[in-house]
Amino acid sequence: MDIRIEGVSKRFEATTALHPTDLAIPSGQLVALLGPSGSGKTTLLRLIAGLLPVDGGRVLFGDRDATRLSLRERRVGFVFQHYALFPHLSVFENVAFGLRCRPRATRPDAATITRRVGDLLALVQMSELRDRLPDQLSGGQKQRVALARAMAIEPTVLLLDEPFGALDARVRVELRRWLRRIHDETGFTTVFVTHDQEEALELADRVVVMNGGRIEQDGAPDQVYAEPATPFVFDFLGRSNQIRGQVQDGEFLAGEGRAPLSVLAPATGAATLFARPHDIDVVGADQGLAATVTEVRTLAGRLILEASLAGQARPVEVDLPATSGATARPGDQIGLNLRRYRVFSDGVT
Ligand code: ADP
Ligand code: MG
Repeated sequence: MDIRIEGVSKRFEATTALHPTDLAIPSGQLVALLGPSGSGKTTLLRLIAGLLPVDGGRVLFGDRDATRLSLRERRVGFVFQHYALFPHLSVFENVAFGLRCRPRATRPDAATITRRVGDLLALVQMSELRDRLPDQLSGGQKQRVALARAMAIEPTVLLLDEPFGALDARVRVELRRWLRRIHDETGFTTVFVTHDQEEALELADRVVVMNGGRIEQDGAPDQVYAEPATPFVFDFLGRSNQIRGQVQDGEFLAGEGRAPLSVLAPATGAATLFARPHDIDVVGADQGLAATVTEVRTLAGRLILEASLAGQARPVEVDLPATSGATARPGDQIGLNLRRYRVFSDGVT
């Protein structure tokens, strides 16, 4: 089901949780809403779900205006961060619940319910634990049941709010790969909220980056990572160095060093260059941006250098594979060659 939101906004008293926002989610896509805490992700998800009334704008499910429809009328499958399973019902009955409480006219017969729930439990690899109560499950198992329960109603869209947020790091990684496989097998249109950029970049077909109640950038994971549209997105999507300088005659000048400019460089004037630690090479002191090594450490097969640039408040971090053969000691004069970077005019936020 294609979903479109048009000019949708939401305030809570003095807080604008969502400025008027447009977003189109094509059928079958797996979309991540990514942003820091308080950026409006949950609000947007709940507005799509029908769990919150909009202040303005429209929510369309296919050609149908769903703005005033409830969650149930929209047939949304929703998974909450904190396992919202019914504690007194078995795994099987939790998944069957949405089917059993349908109005008689659309309720499947008992045999169909048994078959459908059985198929879903197999899909989420919970068949053997079908008679357990939620208390007897791990966090990851509970979220798998919650997902099966959301899928049981044959939803038009699956919405997940930080579904792995309460799990430990290793289980999170396993479950997100597993969610990707389930999505590829079932093809449900899916929107999930996360504040974890790695989770969004690895799992989603498309990443919608939010900040301060607005969509800051919307694109394929590779695109938002490689071509962040704003300083915020650059900084949020991974580690970043920021070098303050000037754009002049087609070059970026910082202290005594200079670097050729990217095509997306802004007009002449004060600007900040953003570069990721692994997009910087160490070259001879007579090339690139002149720097002095201040710290060297190794970390899990990586060589991490910190180097200070004249006139910069913060050192630049360089992340090289230990196999690069590079060696450096504190006090060495080096040049920094920036393989990839973005320059944003100061004043653009
Ligand atoms: P996120 O999910 O990205 O952390 P939310 O959508 O939950 O962000 O919140 C966005 C903003 O709206 C925050 O400033 C939050 O404090 C505020 N907010 C959310 N829900 C409510 C509410 N029910 N009442 C008052 N303020 C709220
Ligand atoms: Mg939230």
